[in-house]
Amino acid sequence: MWIILRGKLPGKLALFKSVNCQPICNLCHQHYRSIDHLFIQCECSKALWFVSPLGITTEFMHDAPISFVELIKSIIMHGDNETNKLIMTICNEIWFVRNKRCFEGIKVPDPVVSLRRACKRSNSTIILK
Ligand SMILES: [Zn+2]
Repeated sequence: MWIILRGKLPGKLALFKSVNCQPICNLCHQHYRSIDHLFIQCECSKALWFVSPLGITTEFMHDAPISFVELIKSIIMHGDNETNKLIMTICNEIWFVRNKRCFEGIKVPDPVVSLRRACKRSNSTIILK
């Protein structure tokens, strides 16, 4: 998480140059990849945020664009420990699925299945919808 918040996660072109992947989001195959796209704009990520107990929708960002880093910093500053842990769990799952898709070619899992797996992996006791 600290890598993301410090802007050190490789973006679309840097990552494209370093690994054998296209500069297009490998989750939706519809947009150029970027940190903002991967974590908040991609339909696959949106579904994961929405099915979480947080029920976050990112549609509001079309009117008042905010970067993923700004959004996460804001939530973490005002959230409790369980909320922050869930946010980190979801971010970790998005990154996990992205890597599995990119390097192993897996299908993007159902968001509920993905979230359950993420919570189990992080030993979270969060009750899912
Ligand atoms: Zn995408």
